[in-house]
Amino acid sequence: MISFYPGPSRVHDKIPKYVKDACEKGLLSLNHRSDEFMDLCEKTVSLIKAKLNIPKTYTILFTSSATECWEIIAQSLIKKESLHLYNGGFGEKWFEYTKRIRPASKAFPFDSEQEVNPKNIKAAKTEVICITQNETSNGTQVSDEVIASIQKTYTSALIAVDATSSMAGIALNFNHADIWFASVQKCFGLPAGLAIMVCSPKAIERIATLKENNHYNSLLFMTEMMKKRQTPYTPNVLGIYLLMRVLKDSRKIEAVYKKINNRAKEWQDFFKEGKNLKLYIHNRNVISQTVVTITGNPQLLTKVKGDAKKNGFLLGEGYGKLKNETFRIANFPALKKKEISNLKIFLSSYLS
Ligand SMILES: *Cc1c(COP(=O)(O)O)cnc(C)c1O
Repeated sequence: MISFYPGPSRVHDKIPKYVKDACEKGLLSLNHRSDEFMDLCEKTVSLIKAKLNIPKTYTILFTSSATECWEIIAQSLIKKESLHLYNGGFGEKWFEYTKRIRPASKAFPFDSEQEVNPKNIKAAKTEVICITQNETSNGTQVSDEVIASIQKTYTSALIAVDATSSMAGIALNFNHADIWFASVQKCFGLPAGLAIMVCSPKAIERIATLKENNHYNSLLFMTEMMKKRQTPYTPNVLGIYLLMRVLKDSRKIEAVYKKINNRAKEWQDFFKEGKNLKLYIHNRNVISQTVVTITGNPQLLTKVKGDAKKNGFLLGEGYGKLKNETFRIANFPALKKKEISNLKIFLSSYLS
């Protein structure tokens, strides 16, 4: 079964070999205060920065999921209120979770075919502007230009970006925001249970000013530990090792992005002529390059998903409110050309 689910999805082919190497090297019982762990951590952080084009001045932290990152931001970077820009299920969930910790936080929902105009968001008092760069639930994305102009318009706020289903798939400009995070079971092509959080120098300054330190995963504690290439709690050492091995073997993000961008265009062209199966998003300025969302008659969608499974393809269910009216196809780097063309052959008989 090839998983085209937009996370967890197909993992890289070499994962079984890397896991075997990890066993043989004793990684599975590696002490997280040992020199060997600190070396692994150092190596992984350097590779993340080098392969994804993250500025050297930024700090990389390890957490266990993107959801944990939502909570960390609410705890450690928001004293009173944040502003959440969203057009779908994940951005909304981030807002809901944050409100439980910081009830004064505000929402700025927008239409899924619409581009955010920074002038329309009222963010004067906001400490953190929260953006879901790639909304996995509906297959939309917020462009680099929009993120950059939000940063330019609201200079005192921090910009936090959920890039869970795009980091390591598309070329992000990390200079345009202060906190970026992603879990690894999507574009990184790794098993779940690890996430990375990227903090700008401005975010680090804010952490030092706010000094929030009430939690095991408070950013003050996490950044202090990371200076020693350690984590507050025993981390997912195997996950970090697998991330290091996958990154070591992977091309730089520009090359990966070129492939993803071409494949995204090919998926869009493929569904352009479809009468029964159609792209859910039409605006080319907001359509996601890593998650293809397809709409059609709910009965047909159920049939396609069921038949796909019988043919060895796992398609992504619709998410949240879009559960019955859509299905999703991951366009993540670990998927192979041949697997994609086979899925297209399968889907073509349902198109029109
Ligand atoms: C998958 C996803 C999450 C949740 O990730 P977890 O690792 O399960 O916490 C959050 N945000 C977006 C945009 C996602 O796609």
